[in-house]
Amino acid sequence: MSRRAFIHQARWGAGFSLSALAVSNAQAQVDVGQSSSMRKLIPAETLEASARQQYRQTLGEANSKGALAPDDYPQLQRLRAIAARLIPYTAQWNPDSRKWKWEVNLIGSNQLNAWCMPGGKIAFYTGILDQLKLTDDEVGMIMGHEMAHALREHARERMAKSKATGLGLSVASQLLGLGQLGDVAANMGTQLLTLKYGRDDETEADLVGLEIAARGGFKPEASVQLWKKMLGATGGGKGQPSFLSTHPSGNNRIQELEANLPKVAHLYAEAIQSKSRTPQNSGTLN
Ligand SMILES: [Zn+2]
Repeated sequence: MSRRAFIHQARWGAGFSLSALAVSNAQAQVDVGQSSSMRKLIPAETLEASARQQYRQTLGEANSKGALAPDDYPQLQRLRAIAARLIPYTAQWNPDSRKWKWEVNLIGSNQLNAWCMPGGKIAFYTGILDQLKLTDDEVGMIMGHEMAHALREHARERMAKSKATGLGLSVASQLLGLGQLGDVAANMGTQLLTLKYGRDDETEADLVGLEIAARGGFKPEASVQLWKKMLGATGGGKGQPSFLSTHPSGNNRIQELEANLPKVAHLYAEAIQSKSRTPQNSGTLN
């Protein structure tokens, strides 16, 4: 595959992820139920290793084209600062994520896209920041959404349930000793690049992301503005944004978010208050 094609395909939106028992989270304000137990057919450690490998490869490809933002690039520093405000509120959705080494990188591309791989490996594309002219609050909402996919292990669940590709159960059986681990990991990495979430996954990611972002001090109403911008970006003869092809939007997405704004309003208010009193607690960002 050419580098261009590779990068073009590097567009699942985010999150795959990791192990973890179903979260029972008494403090949660949004209601998304428990994670599917099907996901356990895919070992979290293997998926995480596969994601790490795919992340390195994607960044390496971008770097070889001069399209990987350096550490001192202002937009990248902005993204990392936003991630640091969200990370302290992620573990309550997946206790195992305390072991993750979160990373955030920025890829120069006109795609409207962002994603987070299992284990907390995040990428944003310059296209989504520039073309949608995202505010910090809106970036916080997208990042929260992507983190939520990873925390709720949607990629792991999708893979476990995958029948069309024959991946799910065959991977599980190979991992029990019949296959080559390296091949399986590479195969999973490829799957991560083309994975599409379901509508249910999207609703969960919207609501969990909304809560994480509110706790991080990002204005909840920005979630609605963000999706209006995203849905509005489908016109102009350019086809739909990459982000929407991997994060399918139902008709009631905006209404669902609006209905949940009151549940997280106090979290946002508390975050803003404590921010004015004390220095911001930053998360572990590697
Ligand atoms: Zn999504």
